[in-house]
Amino acid sequence: MTAFWTDPDFDEHELVQLVHDRASGLTAVIAIHSTHLGGAGGGVRFWRYADPAGGLTDALRLSRGMSYKNAMAGLAMGGGKAVILSDAAGTKTPGMLAAFADAVEALGGRYVTAQDVGMSMDDIMAISRRTAFVSGLPPAAGEAGGTPGPFTAQGIFLGIKAAVRHKLGRDSMAGLHVAVQGAGAVGGGTARLLAADGARLTIADMDAAKAQALAAELGGTAVAADAIMAVPCDVFSPCALGAILDDAGIARLNTGIVAGGANNQLARPEHGAALAARDILYAPDYVINAGGIVSVAVEYLARTKGQPADLGEVEARIAAIPGRLEAIWAESAASGRSPDVVADAMARKLIGR
Ligand code: NAD
Repeated sequence: MTAFWTDPDFDEHELVQLVHDRASGLTAVIAIHSTHLGGAGGGVRFWRYADPAGGLTDALRLSRGMSYKNAMAGLAMGGGKAVILSDAAGTKTPGMLAAFADAVEALGGRYVTAQDVGMSMDDIMAISRRTAFVSGLPPAAGEAGGTPGPFTAQGIFLGIKAAVRHKLGRDSMAGLHVAVQGAGAVGGGTARLLAADGARLTIADMDAAKAQALAAELGGTAVAADAIMAVPCDVFSPCALGAILDDAGIARLNTGIVAGGANNQLARPEHGAALAARDILYAPDYVINAGGIVSVAVEYLARTKGQPADLGEVEARIAAIPGRLEAIWAESAASGRSPDVVADAMARKLIGR
């Protein structure tokens, strides 16, 4: 037990719950970092960890990230996250989803779940049949809601444009080269918006066929997953998994801007300063990738009040992401602290820490 309290990723989380359901075989972690601003919102990830302790670490880090993300997006939501530990075969049964939903329900709204990596809309629908503390459900016509990926991509696209304006003084992506890591919901959506704005794209995914299909669709180039970080480009956009910005990764970068949607991009806190030392402008991940949770939160909070979920509010809140990044970069330039440190300080103040 002592080890847990001294775990570097334990940040005075309000609640960390290990869930095991013998009947279905579900093993999950629900981590609530803060409910200072409201019920703790954050998705549930389905993932296979080499060591189950990795699932706990992920839940601790991701839930703190959600506190920061929701606070910086101006949402009346705290931060939480859940992780379902997958077995080697990726077994995910209705019984496991039901047991997870019951665990969420038992928390009475202190945690509100949604879709994350490895979870489908069908999974979220199954969960919603047993608990109301879930969001990102199919929207009514003209209302906000649904799968968060496209909203996340919209915010990242606007954030990349803000970074390009800030660093390169350019208002358009025309002729600029963006290297996108990950061709999934977020990377794919971001790449499509960038291509429509005239960007040239290089794309990589662990699933090479996925990268090739997206590159073919957008007139870009696909490269091997282990080559994307070294591609000479104007913007490197990490849209796959976290912790890619470590000593070796940063040394390989050949870009002036890192701006993408993956959560927890910095392997360790000091890697924000390492990017700044190389004069690489960094868009803090939880600020630029908040579009999805904005949609999830607006939908959920409207439902709790029996009101329609306002799509205009979602769009307006996503349109505020570039201004928030500008404020961080301005404070970073004034103080000499790296953008991630500035953002963390702003977020912690908002959640009363
Ligand atoms: P996804 O599963 O749709 O896509 C992820 C893609 O990354 C997959 O195609 C996978 O093959 C690829 N990938 C994994 N490891 C890779 C590697 N090392 N190199 C290259 N490609 C790799 O997931 P997503 O919804 O697009 O999420 C991507 C990232 O964005 C995650 O970190 C997620 O936490 C974060 N995020 C997602 C949302 C959202 O709304 N979906 C919101 C905020 C943050």
